[in-house]
Amino acid sequence: MSRKSAPAPQTPRPSFPARLPSEGAGVRARTAARPRPVAEPPSGVGLDSQAVRVQMVRRLPAIASAEVAQALTRVERHRFVDSALVGQAYEDTALPIGLGQTISKPSVVARMLDLLVQGRTVPLGRVLEIGTGCGYQAALLAQLASEVYSIERLRGLHEKARENLRPMRLRNLHLLLGDGMLGYAQGAPYAGIIAAAGGAHLPAAWIEQLAPGGRLIAPVERSGGAQALVVVDHTREGLRQTVLEPVHFVPLKSGVL
Ligand code: SAH
Repeated sequence: MSRKSAPAPQTPRPSFPARLPSEGAGVRARTAARPRPVAEPPSGVGLDSQAVRVQMVRRLPAIASAEVAQALTRVERHRFVDSALVGQAYEDTALPIGLGQTISKPSVVARMLDLLVQGRTVPLGRVLEIGTGCGYQAALLAQLASEVYSIERLRGLHEKARENLRPMRLRNLHLLLGDGMLGYAQGAPYAGIIAAAGGAHLPAAWIEQLAPGGRLIAPVERSGGAQALVVVDHTREGLRQTVLEPVHFVPLKSGVL
């Protein structure tokens, strides 16, 4: 595990501006969290209107970061789901995206992004996302970080994400087809690593590719097979792991299909 130069004491989680040449981005998430009001189907306002997303954010459990709330308001979730499901795009619900995978529900996405930006005193540098899926969370990450590398193992979804994201022209988002269990060494080290699929343990590559001061957020299976959200901070003193609430993400699998 790399333990390189320690960050300055006053800046526990510095950013890591990208200096790479640019190249050419489920969650049946059901936290055991608080009950939430049932979302009404959007009415009166069109899905293209920002008002529908403002309403969605208002209904979610409190979002700590204004940046995260703003990103959720800006990114049009209905552009990432099948046309038959657009009516549910702004409900706090996970939706199928094909190939047996799901887009995480907005409250879980918000929670993970909040954890990613929490306590930062400087902007977020490079971020690695494992599990591009339909590309929704990747689009949000691109609003929050200087560079985003998002990796997907299923070609069909990788291509779908590319289609979904094309109109947004996010120049700092790099979509990759590959096995995210290996991370993506070319973009490392990362100020943040966020996984949308959970395995029995955290792959060693993720820890190795986490920058000093960086934070990793991922679902991990606990005894009995249930998953919990785990945060790993690469601190001056070493790695610090925190186990948070139960979650339900799709499985992390190896290989590319
Ligand atoms: N963030 C996504 C969520 C997709 S669901 C979204 O906003 O839509 C999780 C994704 O992780 C699935 O698409 C699944 O294929 C992918 N996945 C699982 N194991 C993986 C691995 N080893 N490498 C890359 N992607 C993986």
